[in-house]
Amino acid sequence: MTKHKHYTGLIDRYRDRLPVSATTRIISLNEGNTPMIQLQNIPRMLGKDVDIYVKFEGLNPTGSFKDRGMTMAVTKAVEEGSQAIICASTGNTSASAAAYAARAGIKAFVLIPDGKIALGKLAQTLMYNATIIQINGNFDKGMELVKEVANHAPVTIVNSINPFRIDGQKTAAFEIVDDLGFAPDYHCLPVGNAGNITAYWKGYTEYATDRVCGNRPVMCGYQAAGAAPFVAGKMIDNPETVATAIRIGHPQSWDFAWAAQKESGGWFDKFTDEQILAAQKMLSQYEGIFCEPASAASLAGAMQDIASCKIPEGSKIVCTLTGNGIKDPEIAMQQCADAKPVTIDASLDAVKRAILDCL
Ligand SMILES: *Cc1c(COP(=O)(O)O)cnc(C)c1O
Repeated sequence: MTKHKHYTGLIDRYRDRLPVSATTRIISLNEGNTPMIQLQNIPRMLGKDVDIYVKFEGLNPTGSFKDRGMTMAVTKAVEEGSQAIICASTGNTSASAAAYAARAGIKAFVLIPDGKIALGKLAQTLMYNATIIQINGNFDKGMELVKEVANHAPVTIVNSINPFRIDGQKTAAFEIVDDLGFAPDYHCLPVGNAGNITAYWKGYTEYATDRVCGNRPVMCGYQAAGAAPFVAGKMIDNPETVATAIRIGHPQSWDFAWAAQKESGGWFDKFTDEQILAAQKMLSQYEGIFCEPASAASLAGAMQDIASCKIPEGSKIVCTLTGNGIKDPEIAMQQCADAKPVTIDASLDAVKRAILDCL
């Protein structure tokens, strides 16, 4: 009989590489362990000999990679005796913070930009019973306020400036190497606040240092054209993009992200909302994988850089799909406005005609 081990989350799996002790109470929703899916149809359509894998982080418990960081951040907050956590959020951090706070039995406060948060993320955060503070301002302003208020109230910040967030998120790189048996040549991901690119680079670097893998990937960070401070080389005010998860002009992990780019020989690039939405649609209709708009920036970037041979043939590429498409139903419905269902007679004839018309 094979020995069965119930999966209990990424802290348990990688506890040797995380700052927890044998007595730490782990706050987990069994996050991590997300699938690596090799794309089959899109590489063929590109006409290029490349292996593209997507790491589908939208299948985490609250539907985004934020859960990897949050299990660590909330575990440590509870260990340190904190009764409340706080974050600024474009939506996914708030959903994740709210869920892990509920699990831990502590309070969550989330600052969100008024009206610029995807519907599913708002619904989740409400259901998990966080206190939502909606501000007349964008994410960057919320971040500024959170940092100030944490000096005046007994709350632990769980944004990615909390180093435990980065530690939790680095486990995605471990999983990729453990799954493939090697590190990819290129790692493509969307960049907003830049905590995730920082975390992946940390994870790959730890594994390479300990010789778990031989190489570290070239890191490719992709932004939305209206919110691309790394491409501009300076912070920007009033960022704007349909990909609300990366609608950030003042990234907190600025220096770490530049270090990842330089040390890996990577680059930053930007894509229009149209390009990002086109990539989101392609992934859904040609591969059956529904990610949120921000996530699709990774594929938009990879496709462009493969087409131009900046990423050469023969490469093994991983794209992180940071969040689940179901979170943003409004964008999805807009994307499919032409395919809205029409109502027909409830008769065999009418249904038969509807089918035959489409074949
Ligand atoms: C948070 C988030 C990002 C951006 O990650 P950073 O660590 O802020 O760069 C991208 N996509 C989704 C879906 C997110 O939730």
